[in-house]
Amino acid sequence: MEKSFLIKPVLDETYPVIEYGKGIFLFDKEGKKYLDAASGAVTANIGHGVTEIIEAMQEQAKKVSFVYRSQFTSDVAEMLAKKIAEWTPGDLNWSFFVNSGSEATETAMKMAIQYWQEKGIKTKIKVLSRWVSYHGITLGALSLSGHTGRRARFVPLLEDFPVINPPYCYRCPYNLEAPSCGYLCAHELETAIKRIGADQIAAFMAEPVIGAAGGAIAPPKDYFKTIKKICEDHDILFIADEVMTGYGRTGTMLASEHWGVIPDIVALGKGMGAGYAPIAAAVASEKVMEPILSGSKSVMSGHTLSANPQSCAVSLAVLEYLEKNKIINKVEGRGNYLKYQLEKLQDQFSFIGDVRGKGLLLGIEFVEDQSTKFPFPRNALITQKMVALAKEKGLLVYPAGAGIDGINGDSIIISPPLTITEREIDLLVHLLTETFEVFSNQINAGMAG
Ligand code: PMP
Repeated sequence: MEKSFLIKPVLDETYPVIEYGKGIFLFDKEGKKYLDAASGAVTANIGHGVTEIIEAMQEQAKKVSFVYRSQFTSDVAEMLAKKIAEWTPGDLNWSFFVNSGSEATETAMKMAIQYWQEKGIKTKIKVLSRWVSYHGITLGALSLSGHTGRRARFVPLLEDFPVINPPYCYRCPYNLEAPSCGYLCAHELETAIKRIGADQIAAFMAEPVIGAAGGAIAPPKDYFKTIKKICEDHDILFIADEVMTGYGRTGTMLASEHWGVIPDIVALGKGMGAGYAPIAAAVASEKVMEPILSGSKSVMSGHTLSANPQSCAVSLAVLEYLEKNKIINKVEGRGNYLKYQLEKLQDQFSFIGDVRGKGLLLGIEFVEDQSTKFPFPRNALITQKMVALAKEKGLLVYPAGAGIDGINGDSIIISPPLTITEREIDLLVHLLTETFEVFSNQINAGMAG
């Protein structure tokens, strides 16, 4: 093979070259077919090669591909902001467009700080977050991320923003069960606020369903109501990082809607462009924008390609596609169908500890022993092995968790495009079962753990 100069995740590994994608499938140059049960990185939410999106891209390219946000606006950016205001709950009306989820969470963080500054309060600078979380790779977003593996090399440059435990019921740090636990993990936020001082804290950020760091950990029923109340009681904004969960992934436009909570600011990404173009957003409520609009009149952020017309045209077409085909309404049913089958696999394979998640954002955690929940040894690299075995079978799953904080086990995320049919779910489960059979044989042969 010709020498490659492209920096890839693991430089001494070879990566198949994908020639094209159609629906939930990708096809490589060798002719191998992959069922994309990860939507790439929980991104290709409407599948690959959708004609309507390609046509929207072409149409916009014929008009104009780039205008600079400090000089001009565009019809597509205006229409997208309007549609997001309509589709999101409450008065989350104001969109700031960026190009990646990391930029979206950083922008959300800066908006929150600016909100307090415009109100004349300059000390509220910190943005608290949780352990077992991921908010992005740039230094501000990484400061927010409770992901020890991704923080490790840069710790001296990072803020210590993660301060509380996640609502990780499978491995509850208190050994309790919701709701009788009284949501102690949420109340940790109150303790942290008292220790640090509410006058220092601008906001609290959390993923409604924990993705990359935890493997689709959905909270118990009143967790977010408790969190939101604590934030309100202490004059702290609540930011939902819906980069992975937004745009319908869990069966509602925002996952926060499941728990009856309207955030002050929301970060969107991934599914916004569904992989067809890089686009993300920080979406702010009227409450947050009011002092900014009457103060310095702009949000202190921006990237050269913010509100890029090409990306906005894609995101608008994605929303229209979701709407026209009533896709979000179907997510809950498809998610339940898939989850039920994954739960059945738990009876068949003793290394499946937990099946969890919401809508079509599902997670499987692997354990050495179902009854003790004892995880596999870290150096056995079970998550990586499982992802590789699945890929060999022509099934793409997303690696998550992997004991990053020394408390959670290995896990994978199953998050196929929201357009997946029941027959395709059956095929997904068939390929996953085959993958687990190989893994089971490896365990029996003493090769896996
Ligand atoms: N927030 C969440 C919840 C994410 O899942 C991710 C990406 N995995 C990010 C932020 C960062 O997004 P990006 O990789 O587009 O910068």
